[in-house]
Amino acid sequence: MKHYNIPVFLPELACPFRCVYCNQFSITGKQKMPDIQEVKSTIDRYLESFKEKDRFVEVAFFGGNFTGLPEKMQDDFLKIVQPYLEKGVVNGIRCSTRPDYIDEKRVKTLKSLGMLNIELGAQTTNDGVLQRCGRGHTYKDIEKASQIIVGEGITLGLQMMLGLPFDNFDHDMQTARDIVRLGAHETRIYPCIVVKDTELERLYKNGEYSPLALDEAVEQSATLYEYFTENDVKVLRIGLHTSDDLNGDALVAGPYHKNLAEMVFSRLWGRKLDKIDEKSDKIVIEVPENQLNHAIGYKGENKKKLEERYKKVVIRSGPSFRVQRSGIEKSPANMMEISPLRYSSIRFGRNDMCVIASATMPAEARENLSKLGSVTWLEPSDLAYPSISSHPDIFFFCHNERHCESVIYAPNIGKRITHALSQLDIKEGNASVGHKYPDTCHYNAVGIGNTLIHNLLHTDLSILDLYGKMWTKSVQHNVNQGYTRCNLLALNENNYITSDFGIKKVLEENGFNVFYVDPHQIVLPGHDHGFFPGCCGLVDDYVVVCGSLKHLRECKELKKFIRRNGMRIIELYDGELIDVGSIFFVRPKA
Ligand code: SF4
Repeated sequence: MKHYNIPVFLPELACPFRCVYCNQFSITGKQKMPDIQEVKSTIDRYLESFKEKDRFVEVAFFGGNFTGLPEKMQDDFLKIVQPYLEKGVVNGIRCSTRPDYIDEKRVKTLKSLGMLNIELGAQTTNDGVLQRCGRGHTYKDIEKASQIIVGEGITLGLQMMLGLPFDNFDHDMQTARDIVRLGAHETRIYPCIVVKDTELERLYKNGEYSPLALDEAVEQSATLYEYFTENDVKVLRIGLHTSDDLNGDALVAGPYHKNLAEMVFSRLWGRKLDKIDEKSDKIVIEVPENQLNHAIGYKGENKKKLEERYKKVVIRSGPSFRVQRSGIEKSPANMMEISPLRYSSIRFGRNDMCVIASATMPAEARENLSKLGSVTWLEPSDLAYPSISSHPDIFFFCHNERHCESVIYAPNIGKRITHALSQLDIKEGNASVGHKYPDTCHYNAVGIGNTLIHNLLHTDLSILDLYGKMWTKSVQHNVNQGYTRCNLLALNENNYITSDFGIKKVLEENGFNVFYVDPHQIVLPGHDHGFFPGCCGLVDDYVVVCGSLKHLRECKELKKFIRRNGMRIIELYDGELIDVGSIFFVRPKA
């Protein structure tokens, strides 16, 4: 289905502020509020021009501060659209506005009049930058407005700007993470430019502000685009509209280019193509038809770069992104699939992290996990029954997994492993792991904050002791499931993912939020199924998964749940989800 917006631009009449970079008159190209007749004829004109029959149409009130207009004026604009909604020729309304002009009552009214999407000009979530840009609101306002909009079931868009005065790219990445965490479905990325008759023009002319260079804006926008796409946030636009957005001599300086988005897509393909490491002097690259121009690159830049490395380069359309291994003959069997870039913005350094994982995971997952740290692989042994005998969560208990705080291990894990892990702050437990349940579950508990969750009948004494010693008041939740960690992932002290109904019930009765994943979709060789938490590890803000979430019916909702908890997903390979007995990340002793 084709999506059409009918844009109605409103000037800054409603905005009591003047952000340092803003001269809305120049940016919208309009200086007066459109009247009812103008809005109607805009809608009619656009509707006549739409060719696709299978379409979704929204009237979009852009520019300025829609919810800052007098309520009667807002309602009058929305009422113009009502007959079109009733006839079904328009499907909904969207608007852009400021975060500090959102309250529950207004949002409910907007919703009742057909508002489907609200875009907030967040620009940055850094309070210092917001203040210095004269935005007149704080991050708290962005957070509160986002919660109200999402809570009403309206689609949230959060726009961001790059290269603001007093800003840097670390702040921009944090803004992007906040946008994901606040539940936005859409974003727009606007590199900051200097427009005539603004405070920013004065700062620029006084030498107090330097805008991003065009290439910096392309590079940073590409990284953000990649991040948003990985996190299911749709990027609606990169850079300001062309032609009528910036009229006359309004542009003073900065990374404005009518082909900015094209340059960004070209850069993203350039990054992928740089990773090709073929020995042949001839190379054939296939990409989906709609990506062909981007792959060749803006003004052919990507192809030219490849031609510096290969004598002959062919980039052509094909079913997916594939690279021929050698020669230029067409031979589908001779193509290899290229995995998407998944590790581009991971922050923890690989030398700084030890990982404990099952050696039975697929080779590609092993290879990718090795990029995240130094891995100690557990091989299958006869210590426990075969399907779990290489599983870390049978032999190790990890308190506060995300931050790798304390690890207790079974005394019979073996010298090879304890030697390999000697640089870690780990402590020997009491009970040895036995061959059969319940002797296999002493360490399979979840501990976070002062809370311990396990079938407490079987918990190793050293774990109970740890909780008794650490907190005068530890909270212990008893569940029937002895394999608690296999079935439970603690994103934080209040939010959990489980594949066990019994655990879900106990945690919900205690006021926690629990997301349930049907275990029948999870592979565990030797059993009918495994459990989703057993496919996962936690480190900092990441959920690391052995397999791809696309194989889950709950994929979309689960991704949202993880995102809302401020976390990102790393899929170790593209295949089925395999219960590998959890993956533990532990930082070496300081
Ligand atoms: S809030 Fe928007 S309209 Fe108001 S001054 Fe800032 S950029 Fe301009």
